[in-house]
Amino acid sequence: MTDGTDRFASTNPARPAEVVGHFAVARATDVDTAVARAAAAQRDWAKVTVPARAEMIAAIGAVLAQRKAALAELVSREAGKILVEAGGDVQEAIDMAAYIAGQGRAAWGTVHPCEMPSKIGFTMRQPVGVVGMITPWNFPVAIPSWKIFPALLAGNGVVIKPSELAPACCDAFVQACIDAGVPEGLVNVVHGFGDAGGALTVHPGVRAVSFTGSVPTGRRVAAAAMEVGPKLVSLELGGKNAMIVMPDADLDLVVEGALFGAFGTSGQRCTSTSRLVVHRDVAGELVDLLAARAAKLVLGDPLSPSTDVGPVIDRPSLDRIASMVERASAEGNEIVVGGEPVTVDGCDGGAFFAPTIVRGATRSSYIARNEVFGPVLTVLEIGSLDDAIDTVNDCDYGLSASIYTSDVNGALRAVHEIDTGIVYVNAPTIGAEIHLPFGGTKFTGNGYREAGSRGLEQFSETKSVYIDYSGKLHKAQIDNRESIA
Ligand code: NAD
Repeated sequence: MTDGTDRFASTNPARPAEVVGHFAVARATDVDTAVARAAAAQRDWAKVTVPARAEMIAAIGAVLAQRKAALAELVSREAGKILVEAGGDVQEAIDMAAYIAGQGRAAWGTVHPCEMPSKIGFTMRQPVGVVGMITPWNFPVAIPSWKIFPALLAGNGVVIKPSELAPACCDAFVQACIDAGVPEGLVNVVHGFGDAGGALTVHPGVRAVSFTGSVPTGRRVAAAAMEVGPKLVSLELGGKNAMIVMPDADLDLVVEGALFGAFGTSGQRCTSTSRLVVHRDVAGELVDLLAARAAKLVLGDPLSPSTDVGPVIDRPSLDRIASMVERASAEGNEIVVGGEPVTVDGCDGGAFFAPTIVRGATRSSYIARNEVFGPVLTVLEIGSLDDAIDTVNDCDYGLSASIYTSDVNGALRAVHEIDTGIVYVNAPTIGAEIHLPFGGTKFTGNGYREAGSRGLEQFSETKSVYIDYSGKLHKAQIDNRESIA
């Protein structure tokens, strides 16, 4: 929320009158200063050995672990996550520190045999320089960690522009980095809206742009960065994640998974379960079970232990979700449960939306094709596994999917044929762990992955090195191997 000056306020989505903090909107000159600081600090950081960089990241993890409870409370107050989920957000950053610190003593490249004798080839990583990071509000501690830790391990400097909706969480994360001893100037934060993100994107001192957010913003960022390039640009964008339920599934397990996947974090995870692709033999029974449970979920203050579902992030989000559900209804879909904003005692003006199930949609329905980013689950009925897989794949996004079945062959066929970056079996579409690569196909990204074995790729350049110890001139594809031996 801007107050008409060059400052803005971050507020509690459960009680918007409660201000979490005030932040200065970065001007282009502030972005210049931050990039210059990062570039200066990066020159020395790149000379630090990789294991020593890893030890710094482990130290940050220790500070985060000490502060976990306080950080979780801040995530809850600023991003509206219920406290246990806010704790998970912080834990992901702690896990990420452990994983990335470990990578500091893992292989840093590969060794290859060469075509000619007395010659070897190997690869190594080199830093890109300064990385500009633009992040969303929904994992306000975890996502900065997915980007900042591997970027630091790879020897880079950082300027991060967090979401204007969760700036305090990013400041607290970066403060943990500084308190753990990260060199001065190496990690910098600039605050603000699209203008600040845009200035960072096109800054000539930024060699890599790492963006996580919505598809429309990602498109703008990629286009702007490539216009001024050369830059590495990695995009982690939206999802329209589907859960397949076959007739042989354990329906009790499905109900628990679907409730958590669709309504956890009020449906505002990029991997939230948004489509329930259910076999028509069990659709009626499953929707009844889910609707009964969804109606009982307690909406409330995310800091209260009795709350199941917190608010959505702000009023514009609430309005967008409500209008998408209204459109689904106008197009003839049935709103089985929920469907409208809810008022919560003690949370004046809070942006609460009732957990909602929409039935009757087809693959081409608007509600079945577009990311809602709210607590709305759309049911699509199918008649076979082939139909289910085709339905899941008939989508512009490709982040996460899951299948519930007791047929191991069917499960593995779905794993093989579903076109997403992440697939779960007998689990919902959420629950990624940081030691596996995270990201998606189609409009969800541009081929990079975060975390896991591929998390360093977007923050480092691979260099191929050839060493010839033969004392002769070898022409790799021209000389005859035998004659040169
Ligand atoms: P958003 O696209 O509105 O904003 C993301 C960031 O971009 C914010 O920091 C914003 O200030 C900045 N921004 C806005 N306009 C910009 C511009 N023109 N140039 C540069 N930066 C600009 O996204 P959001 O609402 O914060 O987050 C929700 C979206 O993020 C959802 O679509 C969700 O699926 C996606 N998401 C994806 C992942 C993933 O890993 N794939 C993870 C979390 C969230």
